[in-house]
Amino acid sequence: MASRLLRIGLIPGDGIGREVIPAGRRILEALPSSLGLRFEFADLHAGFETFEKTGAALPDRTVDVLRGECDGALFGAVSSPSKAVRGYSSPIVALRKKLDLYANVRPVKSVRGDAARKPIDMVIVRENTEDLYVKEEKTFDRPESEGGKYAEAIKRISERASSRIATMAGEIALRRQKIRESSPPGSSIHERPLVTITHKSNVLSQTDGLFRTACRAALSAPEFAGAVAVEEQIVDSMVYKLFRQPEAYDVIVAPNLYGDILSDGAAALVGSLGLVPSANVGEGFAIGEPCHGSAPDIEGKGIANPVATLRSTALMLEFLGEEEAAAKIYAAVDASLEEGRLLTPDLGGRATTEEVVVDILKRL
Ligand code: ATP
Ligand code: MG
Repeated sequence: MASRLLRIGLIPGDGIGREVIPAGRRILEALPSSLGLRFEFADLHAGFETFEKTGAALPDRTVDVLRGECDGALFGAVSSPSKAVRGYSSPIVALRKKLDLYANVRPVKSVRGDAARKPIDMVIVRENTEDLYVKEEKTFDRPESEGGKYAEAIKRISERASSRIATMAGEIALRRQKIRESSPPGSSIHERPLVTITHKSNVLSQTDGLFRTACRAALSAPEFAGAVAVEEQIVDSMVYKLFRQPEAYDVIVAPNLYGDILSDGAAALVGSLGLVPSANVGEGFAIGEPCHGSAPDIEGKGIANPVATLRSTALMLEFLGEEEAAAKIYAAVDASLEEGRLLTPDLGGRATTEEVVVDILKRL
């Protein structure tokens, strides 16, 4: 059988990134050979320690290898120095720019049978290149008598960026449906694909208004019509419903700022940062990245939860067109969490990273 070679860059970064990224590599290597996938890995550097050693938080070689030789990558975490350090800036932000990774995709899923929490299984698809994050801010001096200083920021929304993020949300909704169909019956809380467009066009009729109409137009394309239900919601009312009735959401598409806020809020609903994956996605490239940071408080103890990284690995595979392999990883992770015998301390258990990884690998 012809096999497909995938070249994956591994960027552990700092702190627990170095303890969880190896788990991503191991699960890829443990995928059944019947899937016809082969992997080659490139060990790459980025982060604060790299900055201290080399003077660059994101060495050119890392970018060159990702661009020239890789199909995808896994990124661990980088520690953010408590005070601004001259010359240091976040390597993941730089990578998103350099590789035009225009979407940040964050699935949030609760553990089934966790009676303390509402059932949640949603994906937040956040536009990652514009909105208030164009960082065009200005401060103006004005005499005290006229109200004193004031500041302004540009909120930029384009039809192109809005339309491509909505298209991605629609594709994700369809793909989730496919993965559901190949998963054990009853393992999903959703029956059909739904995309919810969020905005505040009642106040920002031009910018958010454009986001809304561009999303609507993109999601009425023939590939989605009839297959994906589309609704929209004002962002404040979405926050309310997210906390009351999170099970109602399947895929949410949002402009940059609302997406940022919603995805952290949603992550808080499932219990631990150690469970939540993400992907930074562009044309033909995806970087899987656990949502947590470098967690200096537990670094070196061998107890970091590897689930966020394993799920990020599956998410990367989804964007490389390998849904079946992704579904296998999701199912192994879910089964281990549901059984609940081996849990790391962030989930109230006593297991080590290694024990959890071994348990999940066995279930593949
Ligand atoms: P950074 O500046 O790198 O973001 P941080 O101090 O903000 O570091 P986070 O990584 O954001 O730390 O984590 C916040 C809290 O969640 C910490 O108490 C951390 O121990 C916990 N945590 C984060 N990730 C995990 C994980 N994978 N497993 C267990 N606990 C985690
Ligand atoms: Mg943090």
